Amino acid sequence: MERAEKMGKGAAAIRTGFHSRLGAIAREPGRELYPDGLPRGTKFSELEAIAGALADEMARQLIEIHVQEQADDGPEQELGECPACGGVARKAPDEPRVLTTTRGDVAWEQRVGNCPRCRRAFPPSGSSVGH
Ligand SMILES: [Zn+2]
Repeated sequence: MERAEKMGKGAAAIRTGFHSRLGAIAREPGRELYPDGLPRGTKFSELEAIAGALADEMARQLIEIHVQEQADDGPEQELGECPACGGVARKAPDEPRVLTTTRGDVAWEQRVGNCPRCRRAFPPSGSSVGH
């Protein structure tokens, strides 16, 4: 379980805590995909591929929701200072961002500050998700 090791203790405990609820969620697409039950002769690899695709999509959406929430967090007007000259930033139009993750592309709208003095655009301090 290499994946579980990477999650660290906190995430592993979360996984345990959600075990039964995720089990209920996992049944739902199964009923739609196989209303009469899994057809005899279905390859294990086929089932594994479908399960992986569904799990990846759930993970991708979970990441996307939280990244967008964090990008929207904080007062709209607090853009901080220009990282180059320290000048007061102005609001620039939000920019679409896409990050390719191991679970697919995650997209969100990023708040952007703009420095009128040096014409530099930058994400407001504290608005980016940590790496
Ligand atoms: Zn500047």
